[in-house]
Order: sequence, then structure tokens, then C-alpha cells
Amino acid sequence: MHATHLPPIKAFLERPPRLLIDGAWTNDHHENLFPSIDPGNKMFLANLVQADASDVDRAVVAARKAFRKTVSKLTGAGIGALLWRLASLLERDVELLAQIESLDNGKPLRNARMDMQSAVHHLRYYAGWADKLEGASIPVHDPRLLVYTRREPLGVVGLIVPWNFPLLMAIWKLAPALACGNCCILKPAESTSLSALYLGDLILEAGFPSGMVQILTGDGRTGELLSHHMDINKLGFTGSTAVGRKIMAASASSNLKRVSLELGGKSPNIIFKDAPMDQVKASLVWSSYYNSGQECTLGSRIYVQKEVAEPILDALAKGATGLTLGYGLNDPDLGPLIHQGQLDRVSSYVEEGKTKAELVFGGETAEIPNYDGFYFKPTLFYTNDASLALVKEEIFGPVVTLSVFDEVEEVINLANATPYGLAAGVWSNDLSKAMQVARHLEAGVVWINGYDLFHPAVPFGGYKESGMGREMGKSALELYTQEKAIWITT
Ligand code: NAP
Ligand code: MG
Repeated sequence: MHATHLPPIKAFLERPPRLLIDGAWTNDHHENLFPSIDPGNKMFLANLVQADASDVDRAVVAARKAFRKTVSKLTGAGIGALLWRLASLLERDVELLAQIESLDNGKPLRNARMDMQSAVHHLRYYAGWADKLEGASIPVHDPRLLVYTRREPLGVVGLIVPWNFPLLMAIWKLAPALACGNCCILKPAESTSLSALYLGDLILEAGFPSGMVQILTGDGRTGELLSHHMDINKLGFTGSTAVGRKIMAASASSNLKRVSLELGGKSPNIIFKDAPMDQVKASLVWSSYYNSGQECTLGSRIYVQKEVAEPILDALAKGATGLTLGYGLNDPDLGPLIHQGQLDRVSSYVEEGKTKAELVFGGETAEIPNYDGFYFKPTLFYTNDASLALVKEEIFGPVVTLSVFDEVEEVINLANATPYGLAAGVWSNDLSKAMQVARHLEAGVVWINGYDLFHPAVPFGGYKESGMGREMGKSALELYTQEKAIWITT
């Protein structure tokens, strides 16, 4: 444990391993534990429960019971009030939660604070939707018939999230799922479960009915149990494309539960020679290396029009090599990678890349005195070979490629030459050209003269193998409701 842990964090870490089921923490699983590790110094933080089949069953039974008996009797306004209260509790504890997140995930403290503020905004946004889930009345062939529709919750939903934005990804799913009147089972990633456990306390304090939210820690096996379960109506997933495929297959071979997927990305960031250069330079370092590259939307493929390649490359090199790398709670610019596996993965792409592309900067691990963590320097490769793994595959680390292009048509083809389709950036002062390019890009979100902008009201999700369904905004309500048509003969 780090010497400077605040007393409330120390007390939180020392609590027994636990799962939230049916409105109470349970900890009757002592032999089936795994550790949470601080990625900034490889130190032990806490033990967590590996939820097994009986835990998953108990969680599903509790959620089903709550769905039938209590949650179905809540009004939308009542649910909205609960979400609003949860938002206020989260806001009250932002600092503590940010420190827990920074410890567990390694991200710089100020970025963890931003995640928490964003989670508060999401909860408030969906608190507002809870009493606005309207149906329609539909005129049909016979005036004696009255037809109306209702938007109803799905029932019990499983929510599986990754480690890169642990609490925020959980809230992206919980907020709309709860607003729509569902009962939820959240499974955080095994490497970053602590903020979800803290959230469990806030959910109890906010007064949600027992069983409306369960929190099950555990590795991929717990996720697998959820995805195969016969009494879960929907699975909301954020993670890799490889696991996304397994989730769909599990649905097909079990009860055809609804599935929504937010998956990987390899996003192009296109810079034309007529781009607003000061804005590009201000954005480029962060759109490439934010969160140490562990973000699905980052512009990991930079395409620069030939005439401006040199100044762009210089600006990126200057900016990126000036970034501070260090322990999250010391608030550097970039923290460590999440674990050894991720460090190995990044290193192996980089080593292979060195034999096939030109390494411009970085390309190695970093030593941080007194912090023996998983640190890797921001790295840039220059290449015009679109067939390289570096260019085609999601690395999910601080590794970016820069390539040059001449023509609009050419760069659209290069940008789309990937199975992913999550996000893209276009930089040009010719807005008409930029809008044409945006229209042709196969991506669920395109930023023109900006990058990585988000708001709870704006839908987000992938084209192609980057996912299905849209989270955030009004679109997320579709993910957590189903429509019923009711016919009345008058
Ligand atoms: P991952 O390995 O796919 O894991 C995601 C979640 O699924 C974790 O909770 C994981 O548990 C769980 N899981 C693992 N195997 C499972 C299985 N067979 N069945 C059900 N659940 C299973 O992804 P990751 O490495 O944590 O996260 C990185 C990936 O997420 C990247 O590809 C990134 O692009 C993607 N991502 C996408 C978005 C988006 O919005 N599109 C956002 C963030 C991240 P354990 O961790 O406990 O094994
Ligand atoms: Mg951890």
C-alpha cells in the first residue's frame, strides 16, 4: 500500500471482499479471491471476490424479484429522483472516488476527476429521461380501434465494462438502464473493480430498492456466466471486439438475450493542409496519447497531407516528448498502462514495428524512480505501408502511426481500410470539404476541427466491427426498453 493513502481510502481498501446482491454486501466467499494491483507500483491494493455461478444465480434471482415486486411499481419520476440523488452523492465524493480510480487504474488524478464529473452529468441527464418514456397512439384502418404503444423495460440486464474508464463506463450503462426501469447486474473489469464497489455504497445510500442493482466482481468467467444466463434479458458490453463476438455467440446459444456492444477502434485523424494549424497542434498530443493511449476513440492513425507533414510531425514530437510520465496520484500527464499483459502487448507491437516502420520517438518502457509500474513512453511511427499490423490492429497503448496522403479520395479510402469504425477526426478550414469527408467516413462519430468531444446527450457507438447499438443520448433508451403495441376494440 502507498504510504500517503488518505485514511478514508485506507479504510475502504481494508474492508472485506464483497459482492452487492439484493440490497446488501455479502462476503461468504473467502477462499475464492483475487488481488487488485496498483499499476503504478505493482503493490497490492485489496482482495476481491471471484463471483461464481451460484453468485450469478443469486444476483439474477434478486434482480428478477425486484423487477417484478418493487421496481415495476416505481414511477419514472421516482426513478429519476433516485438517479439524481446518486449523482449528488457521487458529486459529494468526487475527490475520494477520483483517488480510488487513480490508484486502481493508474490514470492521472485530474483525469480521474474529469471521469467522475462526467459520470455525475450522465446520471443527471438520464434522471431527466426517466419520466419521459412516452409511447404513441397510432391511427389504423378502423376508427373503433384504439392502438397505443408503451415503452417498457427489458427486465434484468447484465452490464460488463472494461478497465480504461472504469466508473464512467459503468455509469454510461447503469444510468440509462435504470432510468428505463430495469434491474441491473454490473460486472466491472477484474483489474479495476474498486470504484464500482464504492459506487455500491452510494447506491445503497441513495435508497435504490433492494435488488435494483447488484455488483459482481470477477474476471472474464463471471462475464461469461452472465452472457450465457437463461434469465438475463439483455447484456450491455464494452470491451474488445474478440470478447464482443463471444457475447453475441453466447446470446445465440442461450436465450437470445438482447446485446449491445461498444468495441474496439483504430480511429483515423485526418489533417488537411488547410487545417487550423494552431488548433491541430493543441489537440494532437491528447488525441494521440490521452489515458496513455488506452482509449478506444483515440486517433491512433494520423493521416497528414504531404505539404504539412513536417511541421505536424515536429509539433507532435515536441509535445509528446515533453509529456510527464508518472504515478497517477502525483498527477503527471500520463500514467502507467493497466497491467503486465498490456505492457507486453504494446511492447510486442512496438518491437515488430521497429523492423518495418520508422520509429520517430518513444518505443520503450520508462523508468519512474520509486514507482516500479507498467510505464511506456509515448511512441510514434512514420510509415506509408497500410498493411502493417501497427496500422491495422488496435494496440490500445501510447503507440500512433503517422502517414502522408495527397488526395481527398485517397485518404477516405485509407481511413476506411479497417474493420473498425468507431471514431474519426477531420481537420480543415474548408468546412464543405470536411463535411463531405465526414459523410464518407465509416465511423459512428466524426469530429471536425476537434477531437474526443463527448456529451451525455450525443449518441456514441461503432460502425462495422466497433460495435452495435448507440449509447448516450436518447439513443440509449432504445437499448434498455422494448415497445409493446396494445389494441383495444372500442
Ligand atoms: P475485454 O478483455 O474485452 O474485457 C472487457 C470486459 O469483458 C471485462 O469486464 C472482462 O473481464 C470481460 N470479459 C472477458 N472475457 C469475457 C467473456 N468471455 N465473456 C464475458 N465477459 C468477458 O476488454 P479490455 O481489455 O478490458 O478493454 C479493452 C478493450 O475495450 C479495447 O478493445 C477497447 O477498444 C475496448 N473499449 C471500447 C470502448 C467503446 O466504447 N467502444 C470503450 C472502452 C474500451 P475481465 O477484465 O475481468 O477479464
Ligand atoms: Mg487495479
